[in-house]
Order: sequence, then structure tokens, then C-alpha cells
Amino acid sequence: MDASDDTAPATLQRWLTGPRFSALPMRPAGHPAPKLSFEFFPPRTEALEQQLWACIRRLAPLAPRFVSVTYGAGGTTQARTHATVARLVRETTLVPAAHLTCIGATREEVDEVARGYWAAGVRHIVALRGDPPPGQAYEPHPGGYRYASDLVAGLRKVADFEISVAAYPEVHPNASSPVADLENLKRKLDAGATRAITQYFFDTATYLRFLDLCLAAGIAAPIVPGLMPVSNFAQVVKFSDMCGASVPGWMARLFEGTENDPETRRMVGLVVAAEQVRLLQANGLDEFHFYTLNRADLTYAIAHVLGVRGAAAAADGAKTAAGSLSVPVASIG
Ligand SMILES: Cc1cc2nc3c(=O)[nH]c(=O)nc-3n(C[C@H](O)[C@H](O)[C@H](O)COP(=O)(O)OP(=O)(O)OC[C@H]3O[C@@H](n4cnc5c(N)ncnc54)[C@H](O)[C@@H]3O)c2cc1C
Repeated sequence: MDASDDTAPATLQRWLTGPRFSALPMRPAGHPAPKLSFEFFPPRTEALEQQLWACIRRLAPLAPRFVSVTYGAGGTTQARTHATVARLVRETTLVPAAHLTCIGATREEVDEVARGYWAAGVRHIVALRGDPPPGQAYEPHPGGYRYASDLVAGLRKVADFEISVAAYPEVHPNASSPVADLENLKRKLDAGATRAITQYFFDTATYLRFLDLCLAAGIAAPIVPGLMPVSNFAQVVKFSDMCGASVPGWMARLFEGTENDPETRRMVGLVVAAEQVRLLQANGLDEFHFYTLNRADLTYAIAHVLGVRGAAAAADGAKTAAGSLSVPVASIG
């Protein structure tokens, strides 16, 4: 120690007088790895198609329970969603889930799309109301399903799909009240959905409180946390504003100064997401859904932190994870 450094005793005292935080617990050895699912969006160009399939090739060995493919706002990607899901069925043994919305179509048209999925071998639908184009208020199609709960009931009549629906820990922006939104979630599950996937959130305490509310409302189905690994903070801020997810001030402070430094930004994003999943895991959660944005790196690393190992999953795949990865990943894409 520098003899002239007379601030040392005061510094140490300051360090020792603050609050103490114990570390987050580590997953005990032998504890089963959590179940994962991944969301992709249908690519618009050849280059994005390559990016998507590189992402699928990287994530497939993690043996997700299912991988879902979004349906563009206003139903604009119907053909591309179908093509992506059909290719997943044809070329992989991953279990695909097709997103389907009520927007801009009659009930018969939506039912027809669902029948097409069933015929193509798709057994899982993520049933959603969908959003109108930015700046417009939602207007149901005169002959269409009005809300996601109506779509779930309609799908039940089409075929014996597994159905997932959306949940909103921070309350859906159009809901008349938090209670009404929770009643809506229950309605969707009562209509035949078996799981909800949440809008992404960054304040884990809000999600955990939401689980308490769900339980108190008589909901027993899993409310799987939807997680958004952040690699482009500015984009997430913009998107969150539209979909009603809040971005805490501490996140802005963490990402501050990384605007022109994508590598550091990605590393900060990994820390944020890794801390979040570890906190969720410490609170007993063992199912996670990732909004991958068709990029594998952060999701893969976070899965690793959660205890999911690609190689082990692949070795196990044939006997334990029916429908996940039993084909060589190298054959995909
Ligand atoms: C996991 C997930 C995946 C998504 N994937 C897509 C996608 O692929 N494509 C896409 O376009 N969008 C997608 N979205 C966004 C979603 O479409 C929007 O959030 C949409 O605004 C609401 O959809 P919902 O299915 O939750 O609607 P609903 O459950 O129908 O609820 C919509 C609103 O209406 C209210 N409401 C419901 N029923 C009633 C009633 N009877 N009376 C009054 N109010 C009622 C609800 O409280 C809520 O405010 C996704 C969202 C999530 C969380």
C-alpha cells in the first residue's frame, strides 16, 4: 500500500458499512435443465433467410420444446410464415408452432389457414388478436374473430391443436383494467389454450407479481416468461414504447455510451439477460421462451448459463426429446 494513501481506512469502512447482497444461488448439480422455446420471424429476403437458418442450425442442438414463427402485423406475412413453418416440418424434427392472428380476415379464412397448417403437419398454434398498422385503432374484421379468446374457441373446432396465447405482466395497452386483462387471459385458457407466453419484460419483480395474480385468479396453466435478449438497445426502446413494455432507467444507464459500440452492447445485453434468467431460475422457473429476432448468439449463451448444453441434449435427443433434435443439425439449411 502506498504509505501516503491515507484515504484507505475510510474507504474500507465505507465498503463495509453498506448493505450486503448474497450471490444468486447456482443451479444445484443434477438439477434438470430448463425447457426452452424460441421465436423466429419469417424472413423477407434471401439474405434474411440465410440468417434465419444459420440461427436455427445453431439453436437446434439445444433441443427446444418448440420453435414458433410469427405472423406479421395485419397478417401480412401469411405466405412467408407458412413457408417457414412448412420448411421446419420438412427439413428438421423441431416442433414448429405457427402464430395466427384475427386481423383482416374472416373466420372462414382464418380457419382455412389453420386447416392448411394441420394438413402440413403443424400441431401447435400461437393464437393472437394481432395489431392494426401503427397509428390505427383496432377494428375487428366484420366477419372475423374479434379477440384471441374467440380465435382459440374457433381453432378448437378446426382440429386438436395445442394452443398457446399471449399474456401481459405489465397489462395489455388496450385493456380497460388490469383485472379485465387477467380475466381475458383466463378466458383464453378456459377456451382451450394450454399455456401463455408473456410479452417480454425487464423488471422481473413485475412478472413474479403477475404470476401471483394469475394464481389468485384461478389460473393453473404455465405463464412462460418471454425474454428479449437485447443487442440493439435503441431499437428495443422504440419497440417497447409501441407494445407497452417498460424499459427501466437502470437499463438505459447500463447501455449508455454503447450506441456506436455493438460488441460492448452485446456483452452488456448478455449480462442483463443472464442476470434476469438466473433470478427467474432462482425463483423456481424452469420454462423460458426467447424472442431470438433470428439471431442465435445471445440466446445460445443465455441457454448455456441456464444449464442447457447442446451436445448433451443432442446425445440425449433420440431417447428423451421426441420431436426436438434427432436429425443431424448439419442437414438443416
Ligand atoms: C408471445 C406473443 C407473441 C405475439 N406474436 C404476434 C404475431 O405473431 N403477430 C402479431 O401481429 N402480433 C403478435 N403479438 C402481439 C399481439 O398480437 C398484440 O399484443 C395484440 O395487441 C394483442 O393480442 P392478444 O392475442 O393478446 O389479444 P387479446 O387477448 O384478444 O386481447 C387484446 C386486448 O383486448 C382486450 N379484450 C379481450 N377480450 C375482450 C373483451 N371480450 N372485451 C373487452 N376487451 C377485451 C384485452 O384485455 C386486451 O387489451 C404477440 C404477442 C405476444 C405476447
